[in-house]
Amino acid sequence: MKIILIGPPGAGKGTQANNLVKEFNLHKISTGDLLREEIKNNTPLGNEIKSIIEKGSLASDAIISNLVKNVLFNKSINNRLIFDGYPRNLNQAKELDLIIKKNNQKISCVLSLNVDKETIIKRILGRQTCSNCGLIFNEYFTPATDKNHNCDKKFLQKRSDDNEEAISTRFETYIKKTLPILNFYKEQNLLKQINGMAKIDEIFNEIRDIIASIET
Ligand code: AMP
Repeated sequence: MKIILIGPPGAGKGTQANNLVKEFNLHKISTGDLLREEIKNNTPLGNEIKSIIEKGSLASDAIISNLVKNVLFNKSINNRLIFDGYPRNLNQAKELDLIIKKNNQKISCVLSLNVDKETIIKRILGRQTCSNCGLIFNEYFTPATDKNHNCDKKFLQKRSDDNEEAISTRFETYIKKTLPILNFYKEQNLLKQINGMAKIDEIFNEIRDIIASIET
């Protein structure tokens, strides 16, 4: 199974990808997480991309291609993948298509999470990610509590690109660069539209039903 999650920043891709990993034993490829890891580790690549990410622009296709290739060619996991935040433009989508076809595999479905800009801003400004377990919370809507989170509160962090200025750029980048991908997948009959404004559990139920319908 190979699932692609597409949606504007703050649409809930990371949260739903984490749910899918648990439920279907998938391996998540989040290019955003991979890039943030490079920045955290102060690698040359991390230093090169830090300001790009903080502004809300996209990293170059060459950088992204190098990051994902290791996973795409790893035979032990490359048929159990959930893509979160990749592909992000038509060029990346076409490259992924070529690699997948070369491996005689296929994409199972592309889930597009639809959320309006006002909701996105509220969600992003409250977002907290646990740097220890990777769970994502929102301090206003779904705060971390003793019941839903086992790690210490000190691990809850805000992203440096989760500020109003960068959010606007990220949203514009999504409209200009990422939205054209939807047509590419629609033409291949892979696109499923999801109401990303619903509650987290309701969205996941919808995703589960879609996956059940494509597996049978
Ligand atoms: P995300 O965690 O998916 O919201 O990504 C955070 C940031 O990382 C984005 O705003 C981009 O700057 C960069 N990024 C993540 N994935 C990609 C990608 N596939 N192509 C280019 N840039 C990306």
